[in-house]
Amino acid sequence: MDSRWSDTEAQQYIARYVDAGENSDVALRVYTSRLLGGNPRLVLHGGGNTSVKTVQTDLLGDSVDVLCVKGSGWDLGDIEPAGLPAVRLAPLQRLEALNSLSDEDMVNVQRGNLLDSTAPNPSVETLLHAFLPHKFIDHTHSTAILSVSDQPDGEVICAEVFGDTMGSVPYIMPGFALAKSAAQIYRQSPDVDGLILHKHGVFTFGDSAQEAYERMIDAVTLAEQRLQAGRKSVFVSTALPQSVASVADVAPVLRGLAASDLGAGQWRRMVLDFRANSAILNYVNGEAVSRYSQIGVVTPDHNIRIKNMPVLLPAPEAGRLDAFCEAARAAFDAFQENYRAYFERHNPRQKMPKTMLDPMPRVALLPGLGLFGIGDSPKTAAIAADLAENNVETITDAEAIGTYECVSEGDLFDIEYWSLEQAKLGKGTEKPLARQVVAITGAGGAIGAATARAFANEGATVVALDVDRTAAQSAIAGIGGAAFACDVTDAACVEAAFAETCAWFGGVDIVVSNAGAAWSGRIGDVDDTILRQSFELNFFAHQTVAQAAVRIMQAQGTGGALLFNTSKQAVNPGPDFGPYGLPKAATLSLVRQYAIDHGAEGIRANAVNADRIRSGLLDDNMIAARAEARGVNEADYMAGNLLHREVRAKDVADAFVYLAKAERTTAAVITVDGGNIAAALR
Ligand code: ZN
Repeated sequence: MDSRWSDTEAQQYIARYVDAGENSDVALRVYTSRLLGGNPRLVLHGGGNTSVKTVQTDLLGDSVDVLCVKGSGWDLGDIEPAGLPAVRLAPLQRLEALNSLSDEDMVNVQRGNLLDSTAPNPSVETLLHAFLPHKFIDHTHSTAILSVSDQPDGEVICAEVFGDTMGSVPYIMPGFALAKSAAQIYRQSPDVDGLILHKHGVFTFGDSAQEAYERMIDAVTLAEQRLQAGRKSVFVSTALPQSVASVADVAPVLRGLAASDLGAGQWRRMVLDFRANSAILNYVNGEAVSRYSQIGVVTPDHNIRIKNMPVLLPAPEAGRLDAFCEAARAAFDAFQENYRAYFERHNPRQKMPKTMLDPMPRVALLPGLGLFGIGDSPKTAAIAADLAENNVETITDAEAIGTYECVSEGDLFDIEYWSLEQAKLGKGTEKPLARQVVAITGAGGAIGAATARAFANEGATVVALDVDRTAAQSAIAGIGGAAFACDVTDAACVEAAFAETCAWFGGVDIVVSNAGAAWSGRIGDVDDTILRQSFELNFFAHQTVAQAAVRIMQAQGTGGALLFNTSKQAVNPGPDFGPYGLPKAATLSLVRQYAIDHGAEGIRANAVNADRIRSGLLDDNMIAARAEARGVNEADYMAGNLLHREVRAKDVADAFVYLAKAERTTAAVITVDGGNIAAALR
């Protein structure tokens, strides 16, 4: 591993942060923390921590020796001085004289000695940083170092690899006891550059930021060299089906299995994140995958996000999805049963009885296909997938030089159910449509974009589809989600867009079939091609989109909501507007047909009838022309309804959101037109 230290960059950090009122120690601490945090082979998602011992001035103007140590909730990759809260050093160091210290007391004394009482909680490894004497201390869960230490004889291998440059600390869970033990081991050989924490990670330290950082790089490089030497080839591949099912077919099945039935049509859904590359396939296709993938996570910190182990599924054979579904269900059931048994085995020895966390897997391995991260949001699913990829790398290398082994199941339990680790996950109430994926067609238009924002505000993950990819992307600007180009009149294009959606998020729960365009012409004279063109977009495309969505919803087995943008033309035709109104009337019937045919599967179908909205259908020129034809000004034309209020795209979006949440409503039409009695449904 190469050092990314640069004197120029270091000076830039000092210039920037000293200008902002920080001292140069903190500036350099930010710099090398980011160097570590920017490398996923060193630090992933809140793993790892750093500190610097420096002097700060308190309110009275007195100089105080402090430890600036990574705060909970911050990531090393983008840390700021605010993420390195300053704790008075002397009171922390005095704690080492105690024989024991409870977690509650440890947190309390750490918080009680913050210079800024509003700062985040200092890291759970703060005392280890405090008890060691060095100015700069770096801690990572380096992939290469875990590969050499996650072995039955890891201490022997590390002694060979690192010689007397590194101290050796047997596994103890983080907290006071580990801090004390690490400090004692350090004092026995005070010339070491750092400490290997077996089956956990590595600490390096030094007088300067550069020294501590480069000792980390040196230690990792030694481990990497060991992994290249005397390597056996891994893994021998198992026999796979001739043809493996697609991600698009498999993902919704898994998403359904990962959902919990809350009863009465309510589901606790999960979001998926698919990954595949040659390293992942080599790992999941291995003949012995059921051994090395089921031992446990590579460092205990991962356990709080991806549980002890992934669920291992059979290779999904194309054309035999029913057999796969059955086997996958059995595997999910067994995983949960095993998780409950694991909880029952270890809960009784806890001082305070714990409440079991949900027993769903957070990673699924599929020979022939790849892996899925599983989470309550796209973000947590991506974190799970990142950690899973990191486990694949670490375990592959561990197996290449020996046999992978991690800490004991009991040690993993202690971390998973440690209150201080659980605090990393954060809590908070979920929004009403959290964990649901909504696909919106015509997302680039005014109504589509407003609908994307309205669903994102309710917590849904948005997939914006539009014939114009740039327009689709602008619809999700600032709200996250995904955007794909999709011509809804092209069935293959619709299939592809939903397949992408399945790979990104696992499936779809709500579809807003909104894309449309207006054609006009007197029905007795209109060209046949115009009428057929309009039917393609304003009727058949709705059917293509709904059918593709229903297939996914059926595979998930957790119901769903189909929402259609029909039009007042469907019930209140206007002169010369037949080419638009006729397919919209057919689409209104389509809504009812879906409600009838798929209600038993929990799939609801509803529509919004909107009128006079500034959108792609009604652009400024058309508004001006129509207002002129009626001899009124534009504002009066747009507000020409019973309420005398112009109807906005947001009003239509809110109606779609309402219908998505209306769990007991299907085959309904909501009119959003400010009041037009001729278009009122009867
Ligand atoms: Zn750690």
